[in-house]
Amino acid sequence: MYRDNTRIIHIGDRVIGGGNPILIQSMTNVPTEDTDAVTAQILGLEEAGCEIIRCTVPNIEAAKAIETIKKSIHIPLVADIHFDYRMAIEAIRYGADKIRINPGNIGGEDKLKAVVDAAKERNIPIRVGVNSGSLERHIVERDDGVTAKGIVESAIDKVHMIENAGYDNIVISIKSSDVMMCVRAHEALVDKLERLGTRYPLHVGITEAGTVRSGNIKSSIGLGLILGQGIGDTIRVSLTGDPKEEITSAKLILRTLGLRKGGIEVVSCPTCGRTRIDLIGLATKVEDMVQNIPLDIKVAVMGCAVNGPGEAKEADIGIAGGNGEGLIIKKGEIVKKVPEDRLLDELKQELEHWNG
Ligand code: SF4
Repeated sequence: MYRDNTRIIHIGDRVIGGGNPILIQSMTNVPTEDTDAVTAQILGLEEAGCEIIRCTVPNIEAAKAIETIKKSIHIPLVADIHFDYRMAIEAIRYGADKIRINPGNIGGEDKLKAVVDAAKERNIPIRVGVNSGSLERHIVERDDGVTAKGIVESAIDKVHMIENAGYDNIVISIKSSDVMMCVRAHEALVDKLERLGTRYPLHVGITEAGTVRSGNIKSSIGLGLILGQGIGDTIRVSLTGDPKEEITSAKLILRTLGLRKGGIEVVSCPTCGRTRIDLIGLATKVEDMVQNIPLDIKVAVMGCAVNGPGEAKEADIGIAGGNGEGLIIKKGEIVKKVPEDRLLDELKQELEHWNG
């Protein structure tokens, strides 16, 4: 698998590549120069499970803010730079743990060299980001539109620009909002990198994936197909919504693919004509409640006492709703009957005092 042998890259005190666990990233969506707001958001994201955070740095105030923000947060901070090479240099100066640039739009070779020199001095990685939306015109015209091949060619070209400036502390990201094009581009990129013998780690994500619903579906399919092939060392699920949703989804995607252990998996029945409780509300509450309970088990939330216990057999613990009464089930056996309105609290207590 490509992921097993990618180059190891240090981002602050975290490590990606070389088969290390895939790290989850997100991006703040408040102005970076508003240090109080951005710090509060990052702390919330840390609590949700975010492992690397990216902040946009469009001006000098934002670059300076990095120094202040970093005093209060506990995860590496990546500075996102567009067009202005001076912001990249300032961001590095004020303590960014990594910068994300598109070497093609930073203002030319000399300016890129200045950015690379600054990164080299502090030995911080550069993420080379290529997006289908910003592909060079000559490639788009030649290929009669944006193609996977064009995205890969552009990305390799950008990587060479950094290498030619004398640096190889690199992470690559290629993004397209066309999910299948994105998948094909990752396959082709990995193929190319293997042939070149430069196994840089990859940051994987589906860009402009959309709102929470459509973004989750697109990201699950895209990331599933890419990660499932052994590609990807760090991920971001991009959603138009609260960044915390991105973390929840990223964790779920990794866990579903068997790429991350730990955490409670909640399974729930789809409800049917037998359901006599608000199972949809209950399952949602259970999902929220278990978020930060550090157990590696499966919890079932079932709608009825007739089929629930049987269907919950594969779960470590389950609850089933009935007519005013609820059941606590362990490995398919009913262990307790409780009033329906006590179900959630009883489950919480069981989990807090879990001994298998
Ligand atoms: S567990 Fe009960 S309520 Fe849920 S789908 Fe099965 S039969 Fe219907």
